[in-house]
Amino acid sequence: MSSETAETGTTTPERDEDEEPESALQTARRQLSRAAAHLDIDSNVVERLKHPAGVHRVAVPLERDDGSLDVFTGYRAQHDSVRGPFKGGLRFHPGVTEDECIGLGMWMTWKCAVMDLPFGGAKGGVVVDPKSLSEGEKERLTRRFAQELRDVIGPKRDIPAPDMGTDAQTMSWFMDAYSMQEGETIPGVVTGKPPVVGGSYGREEAPGRSVAIVTREAIDYYDMEIDDVTVAVQGFGSVGANAARLLDDWGADIVAISDVNGAVYDPDGIDTRDVPTHEEEPEAVTKYADDLIPNEELLELDVDVLIPAAVGNVITEDNAGDVQADLVVEGANGPTTFAADSILEERGVPVIPDILANAGGVTVSYFEWLQDINRRSWSLERVNEELESEMLDAWAAVRAEVEERDVTWRDAAYVVALSRIAESHEKRGLWP
Ligand code: NAD
Repeated sequence: MSSETAETGTTTPERDEDEEPESALQTARRQLSRAAAHLDIDSNVVERLKHPAGVHRVAVPLERDDGSLDVFTGYRAQHDSVRGPFKGGLRFHPGVTEDECIGLGMWMTWKCAVMDLPFGGAKGGVVVDPKSLSEGEKERLTRRFAQELRDVIGPKRDIPAPDMGTDAQTMSWFMDAYSMQEGETIPGVVTGKPPVVGGSYGREEAPGRSVAIVTREAIDYYDMEIDDVTVAVQGFGSVGANAARLLDDWGADIVAISDVNGAVYDPDGIDTRDVPTHEEEPEAVTKYADDLIPNEELLELDVDVLIPAAVGNVITEDNAGDVQADLVVEGANGPTTFAADSILEERGVPVIPDILANAGGVTVSYFEWLQDINRRSWSLERVNEELESEMLDAWAAVRAEVEERDVTWRDAAYVVALSRIAESHEKRGLWP
């Protein structure tokens, strides 16, 4: 295993502010600088946070089904652990890069801190197209990757989770490989496992649930009534469908939903339980309706709330001026580019940021970790109650900064996160 230091994260030049889309690392660094400008914190701490604590690059050999050998590259970027063990997903995707892992790891540091979880941030993955692997090859690759990372992960060090191209089954294999080598079952080494091997009830639904909770609070904050509100949701997967169905249950009118094939629009409201989610029947949203519109049009509908919950960089400088929603809640990670964010700010359209809105996922991962360590599982009711309470606390902390500093919701969320991280660094001090 080779391990590289923080220096690897410093080589990417900062981009011109008008260029887009920017990389995850550029976004993460830019948001760190923006938040730091609002706070009176030690500049040494900010400098330290621009760099990951470490980046581990490993070779992952895989015996293919035909007996040949391929060697894939895997990464684990660990950004900051001042508040607790590193936490973040593992991707199997051909586009995984070291810089992307570093940037997304920084993002996880902010997300855990805004939720006040005792975790730092990390991200990793293998540069591989999971669709090119058989089930057996995927299992062997996962087990070998777990072995290569074994020295730098663990329930007290770094706790991976599923991300693009990985799922509950992948986490189960990963946990098994780690446990076999350690000589005991250690479920707390990863989260996002199936409940039968130490996963948490409610984990799958959690990011969508947190998006719904935050949307409900924002609707109330802006003096709207949930029963009168119209909502458009882009993406009908784990995040989008769960958020849409809960808001539907709570009285909102979901008038538009979409998947990669297109969008359904019904001004009278869609019964979201009648449409299969991405998991129930992939890419089937458009099969169940007559009135279809292109996906881009969904973003520009005259609705009260827009929830982009599919992919990143969909609200850009090209369409931000045409967004007619009164409120945007980010379900996906990074759906609004930096330039689009400025346009929406100028137009007075509030954007509730991803690091707050979809943080239910990592919050229930924290609950899973607690359950694993204590060897005691929680009921779904308890998970949902505790998630509600954590989301309301985070919402209140961010709202307080919005009101006190007169900043955007995104800046306020970063201010909350950074002040907690910086204070922890100041109290712990820098080892000389
Ligand atoms: P998913 O695969 O379950 O669903 C994605 C949905 O988006 C599908 O309906 C797909 O058809 C649709 N889609 C894909 N490309 C699209 C496009 N170009 N236009 C419109 N629709 C498109 O994914 P998910 O888990 O719901 O994740 C969605 C977003 O939320 C991602 O940005 C992800 O990083 C983020 N997120 C996910 C979690 C999680 O735990 N699932 C947690 C936090 C954030």
